[in-house]
Amino acid sequence: MASAAVLERTLIAVKPDGVQRRLVGRVIQRFEQRGFKLVGLKMLQVSEELLSQHYCELRMKPFYPSLLHYMTSGPVVVMVWEGHNVVQTTRMMVGHTNPVEARAGTVRGDFGIHVSRNVVHASDSLEGAKREIQLWFQGKELLNWDKHATNFATLWLH
Ligand code: GDP
Ligand code: MG
Repeated sequence: MASAAVLERTLIAVKPDGVQRRLVGRVIQRFEQRGFKLVGLKMLQVSEELLSQHYCELRMKPFYPSLLHYMTSGPVVVMVWEGHNVVQTTRMMVGHTNPVEARAGTVRGDFGIHVSRNVVHASDSLEGAKREIQLWFQGKELLNWDKHATNFATLWLH
């Protein structure tokens, strides 16, 4: 059986519009329901410094200043999820960058309004996920944990 250490991890964030619209719980529920494991979670007001690293590939885009304004407009909830093919699967569950093109059933297809207010972030590749997780989280903030059912014999009825 694969150990937790070799399973893929990805970074998901509920962006400020998602927090404002009280969508945090529903976003989390989708990934839990799919079977992925939450290994890190925090709420923070993001700095421009962190965002400039997170979105370093977009610095020259015309929408970059408005992206910074959007992402610093309120707190975000950022998470690390773990599981088999978690990067690709969560990208599919999040949907197209532009909600107009996102399929119904995806987060952006169900809740998104506009490309500049698209509710969630999800890492787009394994390399990107590794980079983003290191950027947003310290190692000690990520927890390795097992389902109680896995260790039932050692845990029950104390
Ligand atoms: P993602 O990986 O699907 O989030 O898309 P990108 O990495 O290409 O872009 C990062 C974020 O920048 C998107 O999620 C949007 O919030 C924003 N963004 C992307 N394209 C546009 C655009 O054309 N206009 C505006 N205003 N924002 C954009
Ligand atoms: Mg991206």
